[in-house]
Amino acid sequence: MAWTSGILALAALSILRVACAEEECVDDGTGSCQAGGGIGADSVLIQRAWSQDSLAKDGPDVQAQAESHAEALARSPADYDCNGDGVPDCGKWNYRMGMCENQAYCGHMYKLGDWNLGLSCRCRRCDDPAFQGTAFGDAQLQKPDGSLFDAMSWSTFRNWADHLDTCAPWIMPRSDGDLRNALAYARSKGYKVRISGAGHSAGGIVTDGKDANTFVISLAEYATTGEWQFGMRDMPDGSKRATVNAGWTQAHLYAKVRPLGFFLPAQTAGYFFALGGIVANSVHGGAYKAGFVHSYATRMRVMLYDGSIKIIEDEEEVRYWRCSFGMLGIILGIEFQLEHREQLQMYSVKKQMDGWSAESFWSFMKQDAEADVPGDIVPEGGAGSRKSWNGEYFVNWIGSVETPTVLVYAQKANSSVDADFNGPLGMPQNIEQNYAALLDRKVTDDWHGRMTWGEAARRDGSPPIEIMGLDVNDVLDAMKWAPMAKIMSSQAVTNIPRLVRTLGNKVNDGFFLKDSAAALAAAYFVEPAKAFEAMDYFRSVQLASRGSKEFVWNLPGEFRFINVQDSAVLQPVKAGLWFNAQMISFADLAKDDQAWKRDFKKVEDYWVKHLGAKPHMGKLWGFETSPEGEVEPFADSFACSIYSDETKAKFNEYRKSQDPDDLFFAGLGPKLVTPCA
Ligand SMILES: Cc1cc2nc3c(=O)[nH]c(=O)nc-3n(C[C@H](O)[C@H](O)[C@H](O)COP(=O)(O)OP(=O)(O)OC[C@H]3O[C@@H](n4cnc5c(N)ncnc54)[C@H](O)[C@@H]3O)c2cc1C
Repeated sequence: MAWTSGILALAALSILRVACAEEECVDDGTGSCQAGGGIGADSVLIQRAWSQDSLAKDGPDVQAQAESHAEALARSPADYDCNGDGVPDCGKWNYRMGMCENQAYCGHMYKLGDWNLGLSCRCRRCDDPAFQGTAFGDAQLQKPDGSLFDAMSWSTFRNWADHLDTCAPWIMPRSDGDLRNALAYARSKGYKVRISGAGHSAGGIVTDGKDANTFVISLAEYATTGEWQFGMRDMPDGSKRATVNAGWTQAHLYAKVRPLGFFLPAQTAGYFFALGGIVANSVHGGAYKAGFVHSYATRMRVMLYDGSIKIIEDEEEVRYWRCSFGMLGIILGIEFQLEHREQLQMYSVKKQMDGWSAESFWSFMKQDAEADVPGDIVPEGGAGSRKSWNGEYFVNWIGSVETPTVLVYAQKANSSVDADFNGPLGMPQNIEQNYAALLDRKVTDDWHGRMTWGEAARRDGSPPIEIMGLDVNDVLDAMKWAPMAKIMSSQAVTNIPRLVRTLGNKVNDGFFLKDSAAALAAAYFVEPAKAFEAMDYFRSVQLASRGSKEFVWNLPGEFRFINVQDSAVLQPVKAGLWFNAQMISFADLAKDDQAWKRDFKKVEDYWVKHLGAKPHMGKLWGFETSPEGEVEPFADSFACSIYSDETKAKFNEYRKSQDPDDLFFAGLGPKLVTPCA
C-alpha cells in the first residue's frame, strides 16, 4: 500500500523526463525543460512535424480498435488498474517516447497474447505480499533509513528506456563504509547483490528480476577521496593516466581531462554510461585502431564480497575484471590510459550512393570516409588515404531504396586534420563552463522528480527524449507506416551533422550524443570481409518490411569498425579488426512486441548462423522461438554458446577465488559462464 500511495503522489508530476538541446530548449522559467517546443532537438533520432499528442483525436478505425483494447484491459483489471479505483492507469503506449505511458505506475511487461504494444504496459506490482521475507520486500532496501548504511533509494531496478522492469530494490550507497555495510547486510540475509551502472544494457545483465532475493547496488551517489575519486599521473613513457570514480560517466571524466587536451583512446557516440558499466562490459566506439574501452583500464580499485578493498594492477588479473559483468565484485575506481590530442576534427560526410553494391559500400568507407582500414580486406573500393581515426556510419535504405544515403560521423586528429577544415580543431573557448552547463542542465522525470543531467546520467542514464515526427493517428494506422518509416529513417541521418557541430563547437571532444530516444538496438561483431553481406541482408529485411502491417523498420542501418585488443578473459571476440553491424528501430511501427522481435530474430539468425557473428552483450541478442511460437531475446541456449567451455572454466576458477559465496552470481551473467544444458 505504501508503494501505491507513493506512485499516486508522483502521478501529479505530469512532465515526462526530457532533455533539451541548450540552444533549442523551451525553458519553463526554472531552468528545466518542458515537453514541447524543441524537445528532442539534440537527438540523433529526432523526427519532425509531430502533430498530435494524445489518443483523444483518434479516427473511426482507431476508435473501433480502442474499444476492443478497452475490453482487453477489462479482462485483467489488476494488470492495468494500479490503485483499484476502477480506472485503468496503464495499458497505453506512449508513441512520442517509444515506451509505456505513465512511467510512474506502468512498466513494459509482455505477456503471451498481448496483441498491441499498449497491452504490455502493466502496473508495476512490487508490493506483492508474496515478497515478504525476501529482498524484494525488505524495507531496509526499499527505503534505507541510515541505521545500517546510508544509501539513496532509486526505487526498483529497470533498464534505461523501460526495456526491462523488475521489483529488485535499487540502492545507491554513498561511501566505502556504506557499500561494505550493504554487502554485510546482504550476506546476513542470504541475498544476492548485483551492481548497476546507468542501466543502459538491454537485458538482464544487471538483473533479470526473476530472483526475489536479489537487489541492485549503484555507484551513482558514491564518492571517495584522493586519487580514486579523481587524479592524474605521469607515466615513465611520458603518457598520462587518470584514476576516477567508477560511478562517474564519461561526461564527468571528460570535464576534467579534455580541458587538459586528454582523451580516452576509444570513442563511444554518447557520454551517458557509468564508467564501471562500460569497463565491466564490451563497450566500443568506432576507432579503427582502438579496441573496447575496457582495454584502456589499466588498474582498478575494487570491493570484494566481504567488504575488503583491493587494487587490481597485475595485467593478468585486470584481464578478469575487464568485461566481468559485475560477477566478481564492485569496481569502485578505474585507472585509464589517456591519449593526448593537440587537434581534433569532428566532421561528417554524407553521400547519395549511385546504387547499393559492394563497390559503392566499400568505396564510401575507404575513399569518402578515409577509414583507417587495410585496403586489402576486400578489393572493392580500392585503397584510401586512411586519414580518419574514427567513424560511425549510418545508411538510410528505407528512405532511398535504389540510391541510399550514407553518412559517416568521422574524426581526424593531430597531423591528419584537414588544413582547410571549417570548424574547431583545438580547444573551444570556455570549455570548462560548457562542460559545467552540460552537467548542470536540469531534467525532470515523472518518477523521481527534478535533477541535473549529471545526476540523472549517473543514476539511470541519459534521459530518453521524444521521437519527433510521430503523429499518433498515423502510427495507429498501419497503412501509413511505410511513409512514416521513410521520414523517420531519413531524418535520423539528416540530423547528425548538426549534432556533431553543436558538441564540436562547445567541447570538441569527439562525442556527438548527450541524449537519445528509446530505440531498440542489437549489434554484432562480424568479420570485416563479410561486412557488405551483413548489411546487404539487413537491407533486404528492412525493405521487405515496407508493406507489412506487422512491423516496419524505421531507422537507418548503423555500422562501425573496432580493433579488438587481447585484454579480457570474457571478451566476446578474439583480437583483431572487426566490423560491428547494428540494427536499430523504434518499436512504435510494430503491431505488437512479437512483430519486431520476429524481424530482429531473422537478421540475428543470418548474421550469427551464416556469418558467424558474435553479439554485443549490452544490447539485444539471443532471440529464440518458444514451443508456443513466441520469440524472446536472451535465450539460455544462446547465452551459453557465446564463450568456450575453456574460457568459462578459467573465469569461474578466478571468480570463485574472489567471490567464494557467489554473492554477485545472479541474473543473466551466470548463464554466460555455465555450461549449456
Ligand atoms: C542509447 C544507447 C547507446 C549506446 N551506445 C553504445 C555505443 O556507442 N557503443 C557500445 O559499445 N555500446 C553502446 N550501448 C550499450 C552500452 O554502452 C552498454 O550496455 C554499457 O554497458 C552500458 O553501461 P551502463 O553504465 O549503463 O551499465 P549497466 O548496463 O548498468 O551495466 C553493464 C554491466 O556492468 C556491470 N557493472 C556496472 N557497474 C559496475 C561496477 N561498478 N562494478 C562492477 N560491475 C559493474 C553490470 O553488473 C552489468 O553486468 C548503448 C546503449 C544505449 C541504450
